[in-house]
Order: sequence, then structure tokens, then C-alpha cells
Amino acid sequence: MRKTKVRREDLKPGEILCQYCTARCCRYFALPIETPKTWEDFDHMRWYIMHGRTSVFVDDNVWYLLVYGDCRHLQPDNMCGIYHTRPQICRDYSTDNCEYDNDGCYDKYFESPEQVWEYAEAILPPKPQPRRKRGEPNLPSLPIVG
Ligand code: SF4
Ligand code: SF4
Repeated sequence: MRKTKVRREDLKPGEILCQYCTARCCRYFALPIETPKTWEDFDHMRWYIMHGRTSVFVDDNVWYLLVYGDCRHLQPDNMCGIYHTRPQICRDYSTDNCEYDNDGCYDKYFESPEQVWEYAEAILPPKPQPRRKRGEPNLPSLPIVG
């Protein structure tokens, strides 16, 4: 039978939210990136996402590169294997606003290069075509996979 997820407001005194979590915060990192404004910026974003296990999201108007990957010190029981020497960024993190019950909804979320390109096409002026030399064939435009 599937366990009901413990709600943070139902924790008993002395209990820690992390005891009930699958260590969601140890399985990715996210870095703020410049807000993309040009075709070149979106092309870079497209390249980030081509690497797999990456996405880009926007929260409160800040753009982030999200890289999925379990920390190498995460133990099979979802506990930290280097708790006493863990990096400062882990020490500074608290359960107060953590993603334990995050529904994964962002203002924007891109998980494929095609989505990035589609968004760029919607908000930017048409992409300038590269100058062709005489006799050179037309370059095919990027296919949008739906
Ligand atoms: S801080 Fe939050 S997301 Fe991280 S392990 Fe604890 S409950 Fe889970
Ligand atoms: S060092 Fe420990 S707390 Fe920090 S991300 Fe890795 S497993 Fe999580």
C-alpha cells in the first residue's frame, strides 16, 4: 500500500522533515543564468539542454539552469554520507522553504531544445539568416518536434 506523504505541518515535536523525504535537495543543483534576450542566448540554452539531465526554469523572473544528478555522498537511506563535513551550501539550506512539498510548478520550464527554440520564435524577431555564398544551398530550418 502506498504511504501517505507526511505533511510538514503534521510533524511531531522533535521530528525532522528530512526523515520523511527522498532527499530531493541532494539530487540536483540549479544556478541562476542571465535572462536570455537574443537568438544567441537561446542557442546557448538549447545547447545546455542538449546535454540531457538538464533543464531551464524561471522563478520570480530569475532564469536558472537546473542540472539533475545525485550527490555522490547521498546514501541509500537518503542520508548524507559526509554530514559533519558537508559543504557550506548544504549547511545553509533549511527545511523552511525547501522543495519537500514543491509541486514542481515554475513560471516557465524548458526540458527540450525544441521547447527553447519554439519559445524564442514566439518572442523574438525572425532569426537573421546567414549570408549564403552564390550557389550554396538553403540551410534547413531547425525542426520543431512536438
Ligand atoms: S531539506 Fe527538504 S528537500 Fe532536502 S532532504 Fe530535507 S526535507 Fe527533503
Ligand atoms: S553533501 Fe550531503 S547534504 Fe550535501 S548534497 Fe551531498 S548528500 Fe546532500
